[in-house]
Amino acid sequence: MKIFWTFLLGLMLLTSCNNKIQSLRINNLAQASDDIATLDLPKGYEASCREPLNYAPNLEYPLEFYKQQVRINVHYMDAEKGKYNFDRAEGELYFDQMMENAIMRLEVNEKMRLPEGNETPVLPANYTYVLRDMDTDIGRSPYAFHKDDDLFWFLSKGKNRNNSRKEVLTKYQQDEGSVLNVFIQPTHPDSVASKTYTADITGIAMGTYVKIAGVYELGLPAWQHATNLNHEIAHVLGLSHSWYRNDGCDDTPPNSNCWRSTGRPPCEGLTSNNMMDYNSSQMALTPCQIGKMHRNMHKLGSKQRKLLVPQWCESDDSQSIVIDSDRQWLGAKDLKNDVIVKSGNSLEIHCRVSMAIGRKIIVEPGATLRLFNAQLHNDCGDTWKGIDLQSTKKRRGKIEMFGNCSIDNVEE
Ligand SMILES: [Zn+2]
Repeated sequence: MKIFWTFLLGLMLLTSCNNKIQSLRINNLAQASDDIATLDLPKGYEASCREPLNYAPNLEYPLEFYKQQVRINVHYMDAEKGKYNFDRAEGELYFDQMMENAIMRLEVNEKMRLPEGNETPVLPANYTYVLRDMDTDIGRSPYAFHKDDDLFWFLSKGKNRNNSRKEVLTKYQQDEGSVLNVFIQPTHPDSVASKTYTADITGIAMGTYVKIAGVYELGLPAWQHATNLNHEIAHVLGLSHSWYRNDGCDDTPPNSNCWRSTGRPPCEGLTSNNMMDYNSSQMALTPCQIGKMHRNMHKLGSKQRKLLVPQWCESDDSQSIVIDSDRQWLGAKDLKNDVIVKSGNSLEIHCRVSMAIGRKIIVEPGATLRLFNAQLHNDCGDTWKGIDLQSTKKRRGKIEMFGNCSIDNVEE
């Protein structure tokens, strides 16, 4: 028996010696190695980086599809005299409730009603809002209260309509471009008083701004404005109205844009519940719509990306992204963790991947990393640790590069 154990121990030592892992650090593409092949793109290869569905969250991989955070601040507009909007004591709480409800609705996204019998998957929107402080009359706060007789009001109809005018935005905005500025404006008091004008929950999105109206003057509970807030912010994030045919998504059927079913054409039968139509629900976002917003968030230099908390710059060494099946990354990614391609598996990267400071991609012995027009970099002005290409005497890690690939910002 003793002999057997000694033999086994010896065998283990021998094996582990044979399996000693050699590491080659790949810093750039000029580096020559027998384990790196440069190849032509396969015939008929189609770039996948613009396809919205390649950005739809897959919650099986939470480290790859973490929840994005959109920074916002809030401006309440009122007249110099008179009271047509909430003051600070009321307004902070009211918006907090509205935002909380809006965030909840992004999480409990509903199934699409249209088209009838659809099997469109229901995914979480996978983004949220975070308030950001700005300079206000009471010091730093995410809420500013402005009094301005010329600019406080909002009208989306009639000869005095001003909904698309920018004066109020340019005068009062703060942190333009990096924070989404939400303006809460009352419908013009003369129109509210007029018998022929009905004040609505309404709004408009322009650039990285949103104006919403009907908030104070309608006297409704805060949650009733949540879907309008989500709708307008989704415009900023890149969504069009979905009742049209050309909204860029096949899973949002053109429809009559009915508020609700009236039993009479064109609003009979099932009506839309999509967030980007005008209806009493506005609770459904499709995988394509969600993907489109996340595609914009992953596009370098886009206005949507600049509104996000750059979580991809927060390096996280407490866990790794483990590739333990053959995987394809068909959309861009912004990662906080190491990536480990396990032995016997392959990872294809088809777009851009940002690696956080100090992180690396480990290709284990017997694993393959395939890059197709891929750009590996760090989008935070920091450096990452490149690719750790591992091999043993028997098994080698491999990199295959197709087309124009780049590896940048690797620590020297
Ligand atoms: Zn709209």
